[in-house]
Amino acid sequence: MTSQVEEIKKKLDIIDVINRYLPLKKRGRHHVACCPFHGEKTPSFTVSPELQIFKCFGCGKSGDVFTFLQEFERIDFREALEELAKLAGVKLEHSEGLTQSDAKKRVFLEINHQLARFYTYILTSHPLGKKALEYVLNRGINLDTIKQFRLGYAPANSQLTINYLLKKGYQVSDLIATGTFGQSQYNQRLYDRFSDRLTFALCDFRDRILGFSGRVLPGAKPELAKYINSPETELYHKSHTLFGLNLSRQAIKEKKSVIVVEGEFDLISPYQSGVKNIVAIKGTAFTQDQLQLLSRYTDTLILGLDSDFAGTNAAKKSIEMADDMGFDIQVLTLGDQYKDPDEAIRADAQFFYSQLEKTLPIWDFIIQSAVKSYGIDTIKGKKQILQTVIPFINKISNQVIRSDYFQKLAQVIGSTTESIIQESKHYSTTPVVSLSTPITKTETPPQKIEKLEEYLLTLIFSSPKPLILLPKVLAHLSFTTSRFNQIISSLSTLKKFKPQKLSALLAPEIEPTFINLYLQATEIKLEAPSRRLEIEKVINQIKGLKYRQTLLEISQKIASAETLNQQSDLTSLENEYNQTLNLLQKLNQTKL
Ligand SMILES: [Zn+2]
Repeated sequence: MTSQVEEIKKKLDIIDVINRYLPLKKRGRHHVACCPFHGEKTPSFTVSPELQIFKCFGCGKSGDVFTFLQEFERIDFREALEELAKLAGVKLEHSEGLTQSDAKKRVFLEINHQLARFYTYILTSHPLGKKALEYVLNRGINLDTIKQFRLGYAPANSQLTINYLLKKGYQVSDLIATGTFGQSQYNQRLYDRFSDRLTFALCDFRDRILGFSGRVLPGAKPELAKYINSPETELYHKSHTLFGLNLSRQAIKEKKSVIVVEGEFDLISPYQSGVKNIVAIKGTAFTQDQLQLLSRYTDTLILGLDSDFAGTNAAKKSIEMADDMGFDIQVLTLGDQYKDPDEAIRADAQFFYSQLEKTLPIWDFIIQSAVKSYGIDTIKGKKQILQTVIPFINKISNQVIRSDYFQKLAQVIGSTTESIIQESKHYSTTPVVSLSTPITKTETPPQKIEKLEEYLLTLIFSSPKPLILLPKVLAHLSFTTSRFNQIISSLSTLKKFKPQKLSALLAPEIEPTFINLYLQATEIKLEAPSRRLEIEKVINQIKGLKYRQTLLEISQKIASAETLNQQSDLTSLENEYNQTLNLLQKLNQTKL
């Protein structure tokens, strides 16, 4: 197996593979992109063709081509292996490499697949599904769409469904683990959570069925929840899933925008009418994971959510998160007559299409809806508008846009921009701490030295010829940090510098340090003369720190010698002190 992994790695270039998923830009000897694993506006996701690895300096994710595919597609190692083997033209010998948990997941996926087929069969072709089918057809959904979205009906009698699966040879424990089936505490009998509900298959973007959601039919007992979802299972995580993305991702890419709606029908109806760049978040707030998933395809969100969605805290957080991640956020307004996209498109498709052409930037939408709710005729109304709108505007990440909207708000209220900005200061917001900002604390001199040594090595690796530069640096300075010294001694054994060669020489616990240094070196864009100056400066800083540390130590010794009245020690210590002080004063004379 390992040899096949190696063979695949040899045949593939990580740059080509990652480029299939996100466009990489060449920067120096590396390639970079905005990280697909965390939200960011400037690229810190770095790929090294020489080392055949990737690393994100924002969130810290790193690895090889296998790790990338596993993380990006959320698949297991075996699936990544199969996909990459195909790409490399390598025929896999046998099905090793499948861990027990991967094998289980495959069984769960198979059960879900069988179940979706069964539910769809009952809905479309069985007398038991007649009432549900009538309901769906009455909502204007045709048979093709039913099949495309794998709509189904779970029979009221759970035993039918359970027997169907048991006859196929699946085990009860596996049925329970898929989340669809529960077990009664009284008599241990299995039941189908979705029984007597219309079912929707919840897929990942690779079209695998992870779970289901179920809607009650008209006439159901009022105490039943209108919609239920699969519980969180090994496969299904609500926060990662976007309903419809498996069918809409191509259209999202092409249209360069995505319409975000709440529920299943809000998606299915427009989709059937040709609006295909659409996903449903199954709620009113989206999660960071969902936004990250979308950011792979587009940076424009068109919110087709309930018209008072902006009122909730969760929505506020979603909007702030999307803005921070660099999304352009627009709102699809459907006037007062329609309660959701499903209703609007069924009543007047032309109106829906034309509203899609004139979406409103989110901040305008928030001002407008506050004005509508509170009115600008009274002081109280104005106050409520400010209270609602300012927290949003305060959080706009782009300063220019932010001050634009303060101006707009001032116009609407009939006030001056200055007084609105003054007012906004009362709504203090917690500062946004970005992932990449290190928490600053007072550093001890040894910590400072370690940091400077790291920077110095990075400078050395930023040179095309680190092997020539290194001895010149070492002539002036010896490194104190052990892991840096290990890198330096391995580097010195090389005849010609090749990162992959050095990497292979290093102990496994040291290798990540080198990879970090080497990838960070890309960020340094200095020509040879300025690099030399920078190196000289850092050497002096390190020396200065070391001298100051020595001076401190000597003065402590002097103090104790004085207390003990050790005259001879005192003289030699004072000499030593003066010599070190001299050296410190003479700094700035290093020349490479
Ligand atoms: Zn990242």
